[in-house]
Amino acid sequence: LRRNPGESEFHQSVHEVLDSLGPVVAKHPEYADAAVINRLCEPERQIIFRVPWVDDSGNVQINRGFRVEFNSALGPYKGGLRFHPTVYLGIVKFLGFEQIFKNALTGMPIGGGKGGSDFDPKGRSDGEVMRFCQAYMTELYRHIGEYTDVPAGDIGVGEREIGYLFGQYKRITNRYESGVLTGKGLAWGGSLVRREATGYGTVFFVEEILRHRHDSFDGKQVVVSGSGNVAVYAIERVQQLGGIVVACSDSGGYVYEEKGIDLDTLKHVKEQRRGRLLDYATERTATFVENRPIWEVPCDIALPCATQNELNGTDAATLVRNGCTVVAEGANMPCTPEAARVFAEAGTVFAPGKAANAGGVATSALEMQQNASRDSWTFDHTLDRLGDIMRGIHERCLTTADEYGAPGNYTAGANIAGFTKVADAMLALGVI
Ligand code: NDP
Repeated sequence: LRRNPGESEFHQSVHEVLDSLGPVVAKHPEYADAAVINRLCEPERQIIFRVPWVDDSGNVQINRGFRVEFNSALGPYKGGLRFHPTVYLGIVKFLGFEQIFKNALTGMPIGGGKGGSDFDPKGRSDGEVMRFCQAYMTELYRHIGEYTDVPAGDIGVGEREIGYLFGQYKRITNRYESGVLTGKGLAWGGSLVRREATGYGTVFFVEEILRHRHDSFDGKQVVVSGSGNVAVYAIERVQQLGGIVVACSDSGGYVYEEKGIDLDTLKHVKEQRRGRLLDYATERTATFVENRPIWEVPCDIALPCATQNELNGTDAATLVRNGCTVVAEGANMPCTPEAARVFAEAGTVFAPGKAANAGGVATSALEMQQNASRDSWTFDHTLDRLGDIMRGIHERCLTTADEYGAPGNYTAGANIAGFTKVADAMLALGVI
């Protein structure tokens, strides 16, 4: 705490992982002897830089850029970039820390990192977003590379932003180095299924949970928070499996539709018009509830897919009271520690983000594979790979939880399986 004052989200994510590691250190004192945990909590490198750019009115704007290269024991640093006004070092470090274990869980050769800026893309023109991305990459390019650090998207960074970032990287370096960024457009090195991967992956994970309970999505009422990349494709997959998504949200409120969210309208509003949920509600004459937690909507399954700490203890109690039996995190750390405690006490199945939302980064690693072999795979092949990876993560969580005396505890399973994989690699590589 003293080393990293004021970084509350980072502290939260570290606590959450360390809470699970008691039995691991008891069984493997070599991790403590080599100070693996202390080393893991300190990023290998942190870069903070000025991003000056010119807005449409000719004014110079200054933002702050970040890239935290957390751990490269398993491969090049890998993790997204977030553009949102709330971004500061504590957020980037929590995301980077989570990413280490998530990436390890996928079984792919990728380390952990994360970056972003306090730039707010809302209300900015296309030209402003492009100039900001170019300015951001003008510093970032010297720190990244196919074998070094491979950023991707996150909140506020989608295919458009990755395009501008990649364009500037290519211009500065004079190299068409496709593997330097993932989440690219299909025409210039992107992978099929990457757009869908995080949302679909979360739903694959829940499908496995349900299968183990001899159940399925068919006829289930589902609530999905957010209405961005992760949420939209979680909704799509749930609907494909026969579930009914009755509500989704943005930072202004939530929309409720008894018969289910209309996906075509949602995609049109969000992806083509870059509009808001209120526009969706107006177009559909659906109910829009302002400034209320979406978790008051009764459901069987809840998928928080918006942002960190969006679901607190009170929300969790409401969900439990209304009969929700499964909660899976599509977003990173959307449930507060109190919420996780409420779910544990109520026997609600809880799947943490580092397991349940790992499909995005796993498919990014598949994109890197395609780039390295100058190949592009079909949608079905890539989707099969994603499905295998998510089922593998699910299995790893359960067997690890069993092995360490916490049967059925996905949080313990994910933390321990991710940790031991990275820790073993760190031991093998020596004190570096
Ligand atoms: P997007 O920017 O595409 O969408 C974010 C969505 O969350 C928007 O609908 C936004 O609404 C909403 N939101 C943000 N803050 C709040 C809030 N306080 N209350 C309610 N809604 C809110 O981001 P992504 O979908 O890519 O990311 C969502 C989450 O998933 C993040 O936690 C991210 O780290 C995580 N994630 C993303 C991956 C990916 O592949 N994209 C991979 C793994 C994890 P508004 O427009 O009003 O701000």
